[in-house]
Amino acid sequence: MAWDFSTDPEFQEKLDWMTTFVKEEIEPLELLWPDLHHTPPPPWLRPVIEPLKAKVKQMGLWATHLGPELDGKGYGQLKLALMNEILGAYNWAPTIFGVQGPDTGNAEVLAHYGTAAQKAKYLQPLLNGDIFSCFAMTEPQAGADVAYLKTRAVRDGDAWVINGDKFYASNANNAAFLVLLAVTDPSVPVHKGTSMFLVPTETPGIRILRQTGVMGSEHDHDSQVITHPHVELKDVRIPLENMLGAPGEGFLIAQTRLSGGRIHHAMRTISICKRAMDMMCERALSRSAFGGLISEKQAVQQAIANSYAEIQQFRLYVLYTAWQIDRTHEYSREIRRDIALCKTMAYKLHRDVVERAVHIHGALGCSNEMPLGRMWMEAPTQGVMDGPFEVHQTTACKVILRGYKPSPGVWPTEWLPEKVAKARERFPQVLAAQEEYEKVHGRRK
Ligand SMILES: Cc1cc2nc3c(=O)[nH]c(=O)nc-3n(C[C@H](O)[C@H](O)[C@H](O)COP(=O)(O)OP(=O)(O)OC[C@H]3O[C@@H](n4cnc5c(N)ncnc54)[C@H](O)[C@@H]3O)c2cc1C
Repeated sequence: MAWDFSTDPEFQEKLDWMTTFVKEEIEPLELLWPDLHHTPPPPWLRPVIEPLKAKVKQMGLWATHLGPELDGKGYGQLKLALMNEILGAYNWAPTIFGVQGPDTGNAEVLAHYGTAAQKAKYLQPLLNGDIFSCFAMTEPQAGADVAYLKTRAVRDGDAWVINGDKFYASNANNAAFLVLLAVTDPSVPVHKGTSMFLVPTETPGIRILRQTGVMGSEHDHDSQVITHPHVELKDVRIPLENMLGAPGEGFLIAQTRLSGGRIHHAMRTISICKRAMDMMCERALSRSAFGGLISEKQAVQQAIANSYAEIQQFRLYVLYTAWQIDRTHEYSREIRRDIALCKTMAYKLHRDVVERAVHIHGALGCSNEMPLGRMWMEAPTQGVMDGPFEVHQTTACKVILRGYKPSPGVWPTEWLPEKVAKARERFPQVLAAQEEYEKVHGRRK
């Protein structure tokens, strides 16, 4: 029977190496240049970054998000999940390992839907770590519901001409190209009337209106750190061959793109929560109040025990989902259900575990002298990015309910009076014998 929770010893060795490498070599980058992880490295930083990337490549751990079935050199989603458990709590780590979002999701759709020419031009440099990319779907008036998208792509001779606005287009300011969703046929429902495009950011007509940052961050307009810009596209002309997939396939591709991205975020969440948990436990064993260590207080013990159990539950669900993706090589309805629920749980776990860690550190936890404040401020973004968690719950619920039917009558199928009546019909002689027996001996209590 194949039911095994162990990691190959050979791969475990790589994971152990990664754990030390991240702590010793990557954490210092985080401390000195916390925001530069998504930018083409400036010349003065390259002598630090390039040897680290070279070391990762030498270990065979570079850009492992695409498995062999997508012509990648990678190991598939399960091993990526185990890697992301180590990398996810450090912004620099995914970049040094070539598995940073939003590029991993974009690479995945390019691998799935790209032509040979598109792969050579966009996918290969992305996998080599030579360029960054951006996924541009959200618009100022359209987020959770793509039915409100307004950006239009209209065919004009040998070109597509794009007009519209994209909002929260993460890292558009550093990206070489946008993977952009636009309406190509407004006469049909949006899931059939949108198409996906590869839009080089140097194309005339693209303008960054504002460098929107996440809460707690402040950037000026020319900022090179990762921001989530509002991008205007005015008469942007791109060749016909820059459509990714077929006309009308945009929504489907976006779903594939976001499914991959969502599970990668969930994998990174394990890492964030484990890091918060480590801090929480160390503090509980170090700090005293009211005559003893705070680890001896029942409320603190509950926080630690609940966090441990919730991380374990979540981790197993994420690993199971990753394993299913590897097994089937597709994002089936059931796999999308599980990804949607992992995504929902990721937000709640991140919020709860990090907040408990903040609380157990008291004032220090609320200060800017611990990494916790930054981690805590990222929690709400988990509940919104890649779609609000409520929408994922709805998606998951719809799939779950497909496995059920309404009850045939007024009463539920588990209604006890009817079930008891049916059971009585099954054993008439035994019930008659029981009655006779009880007349003589009395009723058994
Ligand atoms: C850090 C971060 C990075 C992002 N990066 C990108 C990116 O790279 N590219 C990109 O295109 N977008 C990106 N986004 C945008 C993200 O995809 C959207 O924020 C998301 O789809 C939700 O859209 P919205 O913010 O417009 O919320 P809205 O659609 O305005 O929804 C607001 C709220 O309404 C409620 N709501 C909406 N629909 C439902 C429903 N069906 N049931 C119950 N409640 C509902 C929820 O509470 C929801 O949070 C990013 C967002 C964040 C925070």
